Amino acid sequence: MNKPKMAAEKSASRVLMLLSQLERLNEEPKVSDKDAIRQITGKILHLILTQEKTRKEVVSKGSGGMEVILSSLENTRDLQTTLNVLGILNELLTVGGGRRTGVFVSKGGTAILLQLLVSSSKEPPANEELMFLIHSLLVKVGPKDKKFGVKARLNGALNVTVNLVKHNLHNHKLLLPCLQVLRVYSSNLVNAVSLGRSGALEIMFDIIGPFSKKSTTLLKVTLDTLAALLKSGMNARRAVDRGYLPTLLAIYQDWHRNDTRHRHVVIRKSILGCIKNLTNIKLGRKAFIDASGMRILYNASTECLPVRTLDPLVNTSSLIMRKCFPKNRLPLPTIKSVFLHTLPHIPAGGPVAQLYNQPPGVDDVVDESDENEATEVDTENDTENEEDEAGHKTQNDDIETDINKLRPRQINMRPFDELRVYEHFCREYTENFEDNDFESPRSFFPLSSDNAELHRPIIIPTTPTSLGPQNRCSAPGDILPPDGSPLELDSISISKRPDGKSDCDLVYSLGRLVLDGAVNGVSEDGPQDEGGEQADLEVPDTAALLPLHDPDIYLEMVKSTRSVPAYTEVAYPDYFGHVALNLREPILERVYGVQRMKIFQDIERLIHPSDIIDKVVYDLDNQRFKGYHRYDGHNCTAFKINQICPVIDNGESLKFNSKFESGNLRKAIQVRKFEYDLILNSDINSNHYHQWFYFEVGNMRPGVRYRFNIINCEKSNSQFNYGMQVLMYSVHDAINGRPQWVRTGSDICYYKNHFSRSSIAAGGQKGKSYFTMTFTVTFQHKDDVCYFAYHYPYTYSMLKMHLQKLSALGTEKIYYRQEDLCETLGGNSCPLLTITAMPESSSNDHISQFRSRPVVFLSARVHPGETNSSWVMKGTLEFLMSCSPQAQSLRESYIFKIIPMLNPDGVINGNHRCSLSGEDLNRQWQNPNAELHPTIYHAKSLLQYLRATGKTPLVFCDYHGHSRKKNVFMYGCSIKETVWQTNVNTSTCDLHEDLGYRTLPKLLSQMAPAFSLSSCSFVVERSKEATARVVVWREIGVQRSYTMESTLCGCDQGKYKGLQIGTNELEEMGAQFCLALLRLRRFTSPLELHNHNSHLLDVENDLIDTRSIPNITSNTTYVLDEDEPAFLEEVDYSAESNDENDPDPEHYLQDNHVLPDPNSDSEFSHQDSLN
Ligand SMILES: [Zn+2]
Repeated sequence: MNKPKMAAEKSASRVLMLLSQLERLNEEPKVSDKDAIRQITGKILHLILTQEKTRKEVVSKGSGGMEVILSSLENTRDLQTTLNVLGILNELLTVGGGRRTGVFVSKGGTAILLQLLVSSSKEPPANEELMFLIHSLLVKVGPKDKKFGVKARLNGALNVTVNLVKHNLHNHKLLLPCLQVLRVYSSNLVNAVSLGRSGALEIMFDIIGPFSKKSTTLLKVTLDTLAALLKSGMNARRAVDRGYLPTLLAIYQDWHRNDTRHRHVVIRKSILGCIKNLTNIKLGRKAFIDASGMRILYNASTECLPVRTLDPLVNTSSLIMRKCFPKNRLPLPTIKSVFLHTLPHIPAGGPVAQLYNQPPGVDDVVDESDENEATEVDTENDTENEEDEAGHKTQNDDIETDINKLRPRQINMRPFDELRVYEHFCREYTENFEDNDFESPRSFFPLSSDNAELHRPIIIPTTPTSLGPQNRCSAPGDILPPDGSPLELDSISISKRPDGKSDCDLVYSLGRLVLDGAVNGVSEDGPQDEGGEQADLEVPDTAALLPLHDPDIYLEMVKSTRSVPAYTEVAYPDYFGHVALNLREPILERVYGVQRMKIFQDIERLIHPSDIIDKVVYDLDNQRFKGYHRYDGHNCTAFKINQICPVIDNGESLKFNSKFESGNLRKAIQVRKFEYDLILNSDINSNHYHQWFYFEVGNMRPGVRYRFNIINCEKSNSQFNYGMQVLMYSVHDAINGRPQWVRTGSDICYYKNHFSRSSIAAGGQKGKSYFTMTFTVTFQHKDDVCYFAYHYPYTYSMLKMHLQKLSALGTEKIYYRQEDLCETLGGNSCPLLTITAMPESSSNDHISQFRSRPVVFLSARVHPGETNSSWVMKGTLEFLMSCSPQAQSLRESYIFKIIPMLNPDGVINGNHRCSLSGEDLNRQWQNPNAELHPTIYHAKSLLQYLRATGKTPLVFCDYHGHSRKKNVFMYGCSIKETVWQTNVNTSTCDLHEDLGYRTLPKLLSQMAPAFSLSSCSFVVERSKEATARVVVWREIGVQRSYTMESTLCGCDQGKYKGLQIGTNELEEMGAQFCLALLRLRRFTSPLELHNHNSHLLDVENDLIDTRSIPNITSNTTYVLDEDEPAFLEEVDYSAESNDENDPDPEHYLQDNHVLPDPNSDSEFSHQDSLN
């Protein structure tokens, strides 16, 4: 019972005096006071109704007015008094918004109201005015009281309201507030179930009806209540059983037809809201299909499309249609990679073991239970706490909180005797240079020259087009595909002189490329002229622009590259080379409604199935692997390619191919005349991970818009939704002087599709779908051959070519050594470079200076799909080998140990993420297996050796690419910044930490235009404890241990803001990294490192501005998902979300909610929340 004390104010106003009288009467209630109380409350009501300021006085702070009023309401048995008080409260809460209601709730008002409602209903007939006032108040209070739903249920109020509705269907004055309260009740799932049992659904259907201009407010509330009720699976089933779904569709059609002036879009949207919730259950989706829901909503939506204000209807309809779209099976026999590689042994656990242990014959493309029945589990058991849960997900439980795990320490160190062999890779420390015995740069291949494969013929180019392969090989008979395979298709005319071009034209067009104009239009490598139809293939002479490229050397390198499918073809772009564009390529502006349009085109496949061609035009799973072996444990056999081309002859259709290094296309299906579905191959020894693509297209018609859909994408979002374009290389353009990858494609978008994804490939999660990446291209030339890639390709053979050319650049001042760190699973070598400056002389002083240079350890391309990291590495290497004074000074400052490609096999075989072991190598650094992860094993051992010999690197950096963020940025490791993120016991922050890890990123942000400091993060996540960055930091003790991430898309800050990134920018980044190291050197000479009072360290501290660190950190993003931080950009992603009340970021931020997780595509999950 409330016993508040009124504030004793001398100059109390009239209303306050009345309140204090009322308070006294409340404290000593006598029967005789009944009339007095009635009178006083009547006066207060009158004052409040007539004088604005009295409302404020009653609820002013410290007045205690609310308590007195509530106390009267609670104590009185007099109807008139009750009505007075309810009138007062209604007035008070109508104006003044949330604060007054908040006070009301905090003083226990909700319960008093509910009790009043229940007790009044026990003495029928209930007073209509009383019921009206109570419900009007409850409507205001409900949404502000988090426990409202529970309180209503526990007080027994639900049925009171339901009965009132039932008996007042035509009394609209009372019906409206009752329905509004019912809607608030129903937003609690447990209540919804209970109300459904009490017949609430049927009542709602008594109220809603065909188009009418009357009572639209009432109708809207009814529909929203119904939608809330239908969120319960049990209610939805009941509704489907009673045949309500066709009813709703009919009502929707009726409104669609009659609301011609679109005055009632909200009602139409509410009807869709009910259908949307009904179709959350399987039964509902079936009823929807059976009732021709697809056709009805599709037709209605098509009519709505031209009117922009009807977008909410189109979007919700599209959402429903996509949900009900029958799930399709990906048209593959298995999702396991087409190619297999026999492993030396199968790991004891993990995904690879799982893959091997999968019994033969298991259909891994779909599961039985892909309908996600789990989400339909009945809601009866919902706990009361659920209502509060929404706001409590902010904690990122991926942050490492164990301080001991954060402290760097040596673990898993191999005994020094075992490490001694790595001395071989560190000869610079033992050489005495007396005989000037510095090895002349040597070329790097081959590892195993006795391999027959080395002598296998190489075919250029790759297409079943142009020059027949016979032009290339010494022994044509060896390599020709047998009997009339598609490889022998008539050559297309790009093999001839390009139409109408004379030598002069060609020279002219090449001349535009080459600055000095001294161009040789004829290829040095010129394929022998076969005479007749087949003329020379013009190799663009790019020597002046691409000093590291040489087609001949490239071919030489390809010969020693070993791929699992034993590729014999070479892609034109890799052979010709890529000259970076000087054009700006802006980030594509997203056209409004693209996604919706694409989805509608997909839905049309179902509505007009006869329009679909469904013709397979390229298929690695078919034909060409005669000796197809499935996994059978240890005895699986590597595939032998049998030279039959997977291209299916198809006249009018495009021709696809990806049988070349780094190629990845598994299947192409022509679905419409100019539209193709494409499927990517899984990483080898894996059943997913694909994202990277690289394939060739021929036989196109110029001037026609071709739509391509990659239909088995896995990521839930992509930079393709934020302006990134695909890369295209036209051979026609190349031989006409433009050998370059160009950003291309329009109508690009990325969205969830209707191909269901097996839980086997989705980490056990059921009910997942794939995503479609779609783009549209218009080809310029007839008979062209074009290549498409996810990003600028950079093959392993290209690396070897670059290294050979680089080593040739060496001067006597440069110490350059190239060794094979080890052999990969696929039999390729993993190059390790040592680059520094030669000692000035062999004098002791100079040798000693030479040997005391700090080590900088760099690596790249552990993830094959991140080709951008190779371009950055190329920039670094070119800078390091250049003769500029800065390069010399950098070489004099450090000894560089560089592994430019940590995962050659993955690169060669077109993987996106893994090595041949089917594992992500950047998750193996804690315990690399010498057999399964040789490059990681030996790289780590080399680092351990360096540490053991007192040469712990000053800087370690692993170059990566980032598919979901813009700019270039770094991840580093800091105990303090990790602890700050956890908000755990801040006293642990007393631990000392050198802030030097911030210097390099800070320098880069000042020097490199693409680099963004605000995207950097120094938090150590649990999910990354086995990555190079964290292991090298923790185990090797390298304080400056980084992952450097380069965007695949472009920049949103700095000089390149608004532009997509190109190879120039990436290479520049690699060079800027070197310059930053040079500046870092000034802060980190050995003396300063150990002397914290030094002048230079102050400068360093200034530079990194310690005060701003907490701010910077709070802006950092970090996530569980690999190296893909949460995506916070805005996007027209509404149709992806299952929630029609679409995530409005502002709303979320204000309420301190977490931003909607873009990764969660919980198609059918709903939160039981009152907010
Ligand atoms: Zn990566």
